[in-house]
Amino acid sequence: MALLQSVEHRSHQELRLCYQCHKCTAGCPSAADMLFGPDRLIRLIQLGEDQRVLGSPDLWLCAGCGTCGARCPNGIDMAPVMDALRAAALSRGIRPGDPGALAFHRLFLGITRRLGRSHEATLLILYKLRSGNLFADMGSGIRLVVKGKVPLLPHRIAGWRQVAGVMEMRMPRSADPAGEAADGSDPWN
Ligand code: SF4
Ligand code: SF4
Repeated sequence: MALLQSVEHRSHQELRLCYQCHKCTAGCPSAADMLFGPDRLIRLIQLGEDQRVLGSPDLWLCAGCGTCGARCPNGIDMAPVMDALRAAALSRGIRPGDPGALAFHRLFLGITRRLGRSHEATLLILYKLRSGNLFADMGSGIRLVVKGKVPLLPHRIAGWRQVAGVMEMRMPRSADPAGEAADGSDPWN
């Protein structure tokens, strides 16, 4: 299946509707650091430029904030599209240039499955341990904790099982090369 069809199928987004109005990229908080930005990424998918799309750092810079979906006149939300693109890249053996991006992605998925939400302090600590880069950006992290912006202890929401169920339904761990179970590792261990 072509990348366009498989990404549309997996993300439930109709990328063919995009007419390149640029509103998504104009509002995207990560666009300044991206190589293409969401609008050009969609155009490349439409043109069948699979390698340029899947090798792009943009996949790993998307914060999943949903701003693009809120601004798009055609209701195209790039967050699930980026999820599908990351899975497609990994299934073709295309890894992000920054190996830390993949570790971060796996940890985020693992924590969200177990808590029903993300927990920044847990994510930060596990990422530091995994990457071995213990002291980079520690100052900002400590300031956020001291100001009470980031709670130290993780909190599991009441509906965490439902969140895990939705994640499993949308992206089964057994079929997701980015998931923590795909390589047999568990980010919490
Ligand atoms: S979901 Fe991703 S692509 Fe869309 S606005 Fe947010 S960061 Fe940008
Ligand atoms: S806002 Fe929607 S239609 Fe406009 S470029 Fe972005 S995805 Fe395409």
